[in-house]
Amino acid sequence: MLKIILALAGNPNAGKTTLFNALTGARQHVGNYPGVTVERKEGDYHKDDFNAVVVDLPGTYSLTAYSEEEVVARDFLANEKPAVVINILDAANLERNLYLTCQLLELKVPLVVALNMMDVAKDRGMEIDIDKLSAFLGVPVLPIVARSSRGLDDLMAAVKAQAAGRLAPPDPAKVRISYGDDIDQTLLTMTGLIRDSGLLKGKYPARWIAVKIVENDEMLINEVKAADPELGARLLHEAELVAEHLMQTFDTYPEAVIADHRYGFIKGILKRGIITHRYDENRLYTSDRIDKVLTNRFAGPLLMLAVLFSIYQITFSLSALPVSWVAAVFGWLGGVLDAGLTDGPLKSMLISGVIDGVGGVLGFVPLIMLMFLCIAILEDSGYLARVAFMMDRIFRIFGLHGSSVMAFIVSGGIAGGCAVPGVMAARTLRSPKERMATLLTVPFMNCGAKLPIMALLIGAFFAEHQAMYMFGFTLFSWVVALVAAKILRLTVLRGAPTPFVMELPPYRFPTFKGLLIHTWERTWQYIKKAGTVILAISILLWAMMTYPGLSPEKKAAFVQEKEQISARYKTGSEERERLLKEVEGRRGAAALQHSIAGRIGVALEKVTWLSGFDWRTNIALLGGFAAKEVVVSTLGTAYSMGDVDPEAAASLGQRLARDAAWSPLVALSALLFMAFYAPCFVTVVCIAREAGSWKWAFFSIGYSTTFAFILSTGVYQVGRFLGF
Ligand code: GDP
Ligand code: MG
Repeated sequence: MLKIILALAGNPNAGKTTLFNALTGARQHVGNYPGVTVERKEGDYHKDDFNAVVVDLPGTYSLTAYSEEEVVARDFLANEKPAVVINILDAANLERNLYLTCQLLELKVPLVVALNMMDVAKDRGMEIDIDKLSAFLGVPVLPIVARSSRGLDDLMAAVKAQAAGRLAPPDPAKVRISYGDDIDQTLLTMTGLIRDSGLLKGKYPARWIAVKIVENDEMLINEVKAADPELGARLLHEAELVAEHLMQTFDTYPEAVIADHRYGFIKGILKRGIITHRYDENRLYTSDRIDKVLTNRFAGPLLMLAVLFSIYQITFSLSALPVSWVAAVFGWLGGVLDAGLTDGPLKSMLISGVIDGVGGVLGFVPLIMLMFLCIAILEDSGYLARVAFMMDRIFRIFGLHGSSVMAFIVSGGIAGGCAVPGVMAARTLRSPKERMATLLTVPFMNCGAKLPIMALLIGAFFAEHQAMYMFGFTLFSWVVALVAAKILRLTVLRGAPTPFVMELPPYRFPTFKGLLIHTWERTWQYIKKAGTVILAISILLWAMMTYPGLSPEKKAAFVQEKEQISARYKTGSEERERLLKEVEGRRGAAALQHSIAGRIGVALEKVTWLSGFDWRTNIALLGGFAAKEVVVSTLGTAYSMGDVDPEAAASLGQRLARDAAWSPLVALSALLFMAFYAPCFVTVVCIAREAGSWKWAFFSIGYSTTFAFILSTGVYQVGRFLGF
């Protein structure tokens, strides 16, 4: 019996898996595509004499080579040549979904379009003229509701007809999207060359190859070069000519022009009465009605600020007590070790390196957890997408793209994110310049690792207005990021903006389980990091702060001084205890200053005195380049080793507040530096990978550190001048 390959392609969440399950039932197996982590799902379908192997392709918005999913989907279509491809569309989001359809049409795969979620479309009062849509696309379009298996028989009948070749092939002129005069001319020339040489014939259509080369699709360009280096060079030359021309005339890239025209093509189709709304304005469905208020031009942003501010209020007020409990546990643990172990390197490492270092980071777990919970509520309810939507208007002004918003929010734009996934999230940006601008500015956001430092310094120096300060810092980080983006886009990254479609998911009540899972996943990541990376760095920094110890003569001098005190005062007298502690503190400080880290820190003071940082702060900031969490743990270690404080049990915050090297002004300067200096090491590696070169990674370190230093120095010097 003949068995055809039937592939399911579509955007994420269009309902592919639901349709796949409905078609194949239990007859499925899951594997991986060779060499990648993308899941490959296959199942059997049969009905009467019709048999098919159904393959659930990874969900993609496009067929470029920006992500592993897109590459997998594309390779599958080109290499395995499925007899039929069902392109499943979310009828409620036609415009965005049709973007992939355009590309499938260009790839000339035997297509059947399944218009899914017809129930949702109907609830929203949309009526879709299916025959008209089918006529415009030149392929069969079948309405279905995958979740309740409605319309599947008709769909499969169309698939069967397509497989049997009984359908008329689509009119090539109809699906040929025009990309504007310049590109069209180039495509014509290139297509001719490709046809004549039979380049990659049978694998890709000639015009598709040409479009991809103009789009600067690296993977395909390499494939072409491997197949025919000489022709490859000629084609690339053509593409470069048109790219240069577009740069001169439109100040933009071919990729952007091509994306523009695809959306234009889709808009053109949809405008011709394919969708009609049955309901009038005042009978919008619930989500739309909520959005009328929440994304209102004026009320929306105000409400957004109120929501974000209350998150800070809630997390700080509710977490104060549990944070003090965790600190007490670590304090107790340190006391136990102090009493139970004899003095020596092991004791010093455990107390100063492990407990003070890692404990300082773990101490903020309750705060981080509450913050994550609030974010999870925003995310799961659908409000976060509205935040991105509202921010989009502002983003355009600064030369960024609506899709950048998510990268900023993920990086900590609201609070407690991480620049690493943020940098990854920038992948969805099509324009290389907008992507670079995003990569270079997302590390300015308040990531989860900066929160403990802020909580520490703000708690120690500006305790009365904690939430206010945190909120202010978050806003300020946005201002800095946006202004930096604008400057980059006006200088090293000049270029025109690309068009943008943004989908707003309907509002939902978050489920309790979903919230718990989301909160816990992120909190656990934070704890794991403290237990592994940060533990290792803490111990390393402890060693750098301990060795080489004081010279024997110096050590002997301190011992002698102590003996003199002991001899002069009565055993157990208050005066004697105080003096002994004072000597011990001086000894610790001298040893720290003498250590490797201490010397580096002291050497840096030559520059950092300008912004008010002493050598101990320098050590911490250097450590922060490995991971920002380390700033707190290193300060903890530095101030416990060189402790001159008579009350040794004082918390780090109290120690700083009392230390002569610190003041509210220094704290402010340190906060500013810490917020904007070089991204952490892992982020830098990611930037290098995403940007495709280390040049940009070093640029990122250099420009942000320079900026941070100028900013903190400016604030410190002006503050001193004004007498703070
Ligand atoms: P995939 O990402 O393309 O594999 O999408 P899924 O099959 O996982 O579906 C995404 C969500 O849409 C799931 O919650 C499905 O239950 C839901 N869904 C799928 N088809 C329909 C449909 O026809 N109507 C409605 N209302 N929901 C659907
Ligand atoms: Mg799926």
